Amino acid sequence: KSGFVALIGRPNVGKSTLLNQILGQKIAIMSDKAQTTRNRIQGVYTSESEQVIFIDTPGIHKPKHKLGEYMTKTAVQTLNEVDLVAFMVDAEKGYGRGDQYIIDLLEKSKTPVFLLINKIDRVHPDQLLPLIDTYRNQYNFDEIVPLSALQGMNVSTLLEQITKYL
Ligand code: GDP
Ligand code: MG
Repeated sequence: KSGFVALIGRPNVGKSTLLNQILGQKIAIMSDKAQTTRNRIQGVYTSESEQVIFIDTPGIHKPKHKLGEYMTKTAVQTLNEVDLVAFMVDAEKGYGRGDQYIIDLLEKSKTPVFLLINKIDRVHPDQLLPLIDTYRNQYNFDEIVPLSALQGMNVSTLLEQITKYL
C-alpha cells in the first residue's frame, strides 16, 4: 500500500516533530527550505508493506491578509488529490480561530480527515475529553488521534490508522 498524506496545522503544533519521530531522522526540518513547488514532500515513511508520503500544503493556513481565491482553490485542490488529510492541533492551546479557517477549507473537500491532537503530555486527561468533544462538534473527523509527537506516544497507532486509508 502506498499513498499521500497532507499533514496540516498551524505553526508550532508539532508537525516536524511528528515527522522526525516517524522517519527517525531529521528530514522534515531540512525540507522547510524548499517552498518552490506547490506541495513539498516532507518525508516518506516506508515499511515492508507500506509507503506513506507526507506532504505540506501551502495556502492552507490563514494568512495575515485574506487569501486570494486562487490560493484557496489551490489548497482545496491539493486536499482533493491526497488520500488522507492529517490535521494537527495543539492540545494545550485548544480550539482557535485558525482552526476554524482550516475546517472551513476541509468542508470543501471529500478526502478523509484525521484530527491529530498533539502534545497530550502537556495536558491532564480530564482536559482532553472536552477538547475532543469541541473538535468533534466542528467537523465530522474520520479518526481522532490524541498523541505526543515528542514522546512518541500513540505514534504507532496513528501509522496503523493511516495505512487503513491508503
Ligand atoms: P511545526 O511548526 O508544526 O513543525 O512544530 P514543531 O515540530 O517545530 O514543534 C514546535 C515545538 O513544539 C517544538 O519546541 C517541539 O519540541 C514542541 N513539541 C512538538 N510536539 C510536542 C509534544 O508532543 N509534546 C510537547 N510537550 N512538545 C512538543
Ligand atoms: Mg515544521
